[in-house]
Amino acid sequence: MFLINYTFLLQIKRKLRTSPSSYRVILYVSLLFTLLYNFSFFKNFFITYSFSGINILYTLSIFITLFTFIAFVLTLLSSKHIFKPFVILILIISSFTAYFMDTYNVIIDHSMIRNSLQTNLEESLDLFSFKLVLYVVFLGLIPSIFVYKIKPSFGTFKQESLKKLKILLILFAIIAVNVFGFSKFYTSFFREHKTLRYYANPTFWMFSVINYGKRTFYNGKIVVKEVGKDAKINEEVEDKKELIIMVVGEATRADRFSLNGYERETNPLLKKEEVYNFSKMASCGTSTAHSVPCMFSKFDRDDYSYKKGITNENVLDVLTHTKQVNVLWRDNNSDSKGVALRVKYEDFRSSKTNTICEKDGECRDEGMLIGLNNYIEENKNGDILIVLHQMGNHGPAYYKRYPKEYEKFTPVCKTNQLEKCTVEEINNAYDNAILHTDAFLSKVINFLKPYSKDYETAMVYMSDHGESLGENGLYLHGLPYFMAPDTQTHVASLMWFGESMKEEINLNKLNQTKDKALSQDNLFHTLLGMFEVDTNVYKKDLDILANIRKEN
Ligand SMILES: [Zn+2]
Repeated sequence: MFLINYTFLLQIKRKLRTSPSSYRVILYVSLLFTLLYNFSFFKNFFITYSFSGINILYTLSIFITLFTFIAFVLTLLSSKHIFKPFVILILIISSFTAYFMDTYNVIIDHSMIRNSLQTNLEESLDLFSFKLVLYVVFLGLIPSIFVYKIKPSFGTFKQESLKKLKILLILFAIIAVNVFGFSKFYTSFFREHKTLRYYANPTFWMFSVINYGKRTFYNGKIVVKEVGKDAKINEEVEDKKELIIMVVGEATRADRFSLNGYERETNPLLKKEEVYNFSKMASCGTSTAHSVPCMFSKFDRDDYSYKKGITNENVLDVLTHTKQVNVLWRDNNSDSKGVALRVKYEDFRSSKTNTICEKDGECRDEGMLIGLNNYIEENKNGDILIVLHQMGNHGPAYYKRYPKEYEKFTPVCKTNQLEKCTVEEINNAYDNAILHTDAFLSKVINFLKPYSKDYETAMVYMSDHGESLGENGLYLHGLPYFMAPDTQTHVASLMWFGESMKEEINLNKLNQTKDKALSQDNLFHTLLGMFEVDTNVYKKDLDILANIRKEN
């Protein structure tokens, strides 16, 4: 591919020696995009439409349409004053998007853009590879140097505008003739296989940037609406205080928990504890940036959006409004995704705060438990909610997510280039990381046990989203929800209760509820219920434990 790229560019260089018009440059760049940056698009196209019979004609037609459409978009958006920086920027970004789409079969939608922008340096280094360098050099830098060197000619403003209009009309006409000429095929392409166009590079990521901007930016500054300002704790003075640890998991799919029937023993420690495993827990989104704020918000999955999340207080704020709950968020993931902006927050991703870090800089989730007893001692005047945001099974470098002693399943995939590993190696690395989470959750439970005489203790565990591990060529997570496989949306989740909390719960009833279809929509109300908070934003029917409390 890279060789074709080079000879193709040399030919263009020869043609462009005399000052070409900017529109000619756009046509060449569009052809380059169609040929070399759309491997994923055509791969998925050929999975849907086999290359035989009438489909050969359709393939030719889709090639022309894609090329024309890219040229149309670039022509529309380019302008004389920013021509070269614009084309170079699109080339560089598209070399990255081509790499990630070709390597992990992901889609660059608005949610993926949000996730990438919220990714920290260590997470980015996890994705670094030699193949990525090749993509950036051959698809990003070299074409950019060619564009940089040419001297496109421009006419006067009037000439340019007329020419632009003429070219846009011609390109539009080609697309229209194509689409109407093969209307049956295009109806199927756009309606039944509408996900295919998400792989078009660079047009889909450009559309996603606009979509991201629309969903993210505001006219004016962000005003956060108060939620549950009326919140009061409804309990007798002599009742024990609550001490609840909520663990937000990372990329843990439900079917890899032996508690959910996985044939491998991945929960050897949790199975010894009296945990209540929620076997049908659905996530709100397929990425950390979407699921984490959503699960703490009052909005359900259909209603939640980034804007609503960031402009409305969440359940941690409602608990704070009672003035009786002390909330602490400790983070060993990226950050709280805006959830802990108004509560006490501690970053555990560095050896400055986390005392359990490896030489390579990887800090362990267990480190978040160190010193927690001091926090509990200092806040014994009220109830306590501690949120621990795990590194968990963060991919693709699953092999980095656990200390050596958890490497029970071997051989393991020791690269972030998952497609270079066998399915078995990827599964082994991922399952070892699950074993490590099993041990971490068991440590959280054993941390809470000594407090269970004086407090009503509980642990709530919920993973943010699942993960694809190569099934149907898909890796990682972040597909749009409607097309995401179950592995990305069916997440691991469970609860554990200390002695005094257990006395308040009808465990037989809980055993009947735990296997019902539940979702992250339930978390907001369940946490309010656990702290016995009275507020108009509480919805009893969404509280998992509401009908299980003994007084009911
Ligand atoms: Zn995540």
